[in-house]
Amino acid sequence: MKQFIYADNAATTKVAPEVLEAMMPCFGDVYGNPSSLYTKGQEAQTLLQGAREKIASLLNCKPTEIFFTSCGSESDNWAIKGAALANAKKGKHIISTKIEHHAVLHALQALEKQGFEITYLDVDEYGIVSAESVRAAIRPDTILVECMYANNEIGTLQPIREIAKICRENKVICFTDAVQAVGNVPIDLEELGVDMLALSGHKIHAPKGIGALYIKTGTRVSTFLDGGGQERGRRGGTENVAFAVGLAKALEMAIAKLPEMNKVQAMRDRLIDGLLKIPHSRLNGSREKRLPGNCNISFEFIEGESLILLLDMMGICASTGSACSSKSLEPSHVLLAIGLPHEKAHGSLRLTISHETTDAEIDYILEKVPQVVDRLRQMSPLYEDYLNGKI
Ligand code: PLP
Repeated sequence: MKQFIYADNAATTKVAPEVLEAMMPCFGDVYGNPSSLYTKGQEAQTLLQGAREKIASLLNCKPTEIFFTSCGSESDNWAIKGAALANAKKGKHIISTKIEHHAVLHALQALEKQGFEITYLDVDEYGIVSAESVRAAIRPDTILVECMYANNEIGTLQPIREIAKICRENKVICFTDAVQAVGNVPIDLEELGVDMLALSGHKIHAPKGIGALYIKTGTRVSTFLDGGGQERGRRGGTENVAFAVGLAKALEMAIAKLPEMNKVQAMRDRLIDGLLKIPHSRLNGSREKRLPGNCNISFEFIEGESLILLLDMMGICASTGSACSSKSLEPSHVLLAIGLPHEKAHGSLRLTISHETTDAEIDYILEKVPQVVDRLRQMSPLYEDYLNGKI
């Protein structure tokens, strides 16, 4: 029987049957516009409000602080551009890091063209930003600090609580892109202390096309989409009630499963240890401060793209770098930022597993990846040079 193993959960996830079931009434009877005053509209409004309240209670914030968006990228754009626009009179300096997702990096680059100055902080060899480097970079004209909670490529977890504390002490807005972290690690917004946090549904078994932005009460952020007053007048557009309901259900399920994350982590560790037995391999990112399902390994002398295609033929879905950059042949900016030379950055493999991954699947991956790496090395001129002592 042909194998099919989905090991690319950081790219996206399958919609959970329970999520689909929760959304179904919105595709049937509950079709009203939540802004309509009559009963049919109010039925939809009740579901929408219920979803908002559930998400707020799961993340420990107020329902009025949760704003639905269409995806993580929109949440990132809103937080960054909205904070910049609303605070430009105070200053035009923003701090971020070199390993952010392109939704953040490109939003920041757009602001640079409008006269904002961005400091992109370095990370260490494990991809971790030091909170003290944030403190050192803050200036009187700094208005925003943005740092991702967990990296999408190498899974590294950042010291967000410390960074948020430094921001509070300096009266600077703190935003975290937590698209990869929400549902994979415990998050309590009150305890975390950030002013804004972005999340996305399709990473946690909700559909593609829904995200949310947490905006702490009192945070100065401009309206993202002018429209009919939806989302408390800050993000116009008739709300996607079905997907908001799906997001709330997916988050509830992900958080309920957090205590079992140690099983995912144990499988991930077996995967990492097994793959590191392949000669000339290295783990990218921190061993300890890492998302429970993330394994990112570089293999010298081979191309990640070829690895992905051969693994696909064996029924394994994996990735090299982030899904968004997989169409480009540029090496990953994240791997370059942690100090990998171009040739090593090219040969990286990201496997991201979930609760649905089985031990038998890990065995299969551990059997196939060494074979594929070996096959590619046999064809690699670089490997031949290495064997002949030329490099
Ligand atoms: N931020 C991070 C860290 C991500 O991993 C992603 C998606 O891969 C995004 C933002 C963008 O989210 P979306 O695909 O929902 O736009």
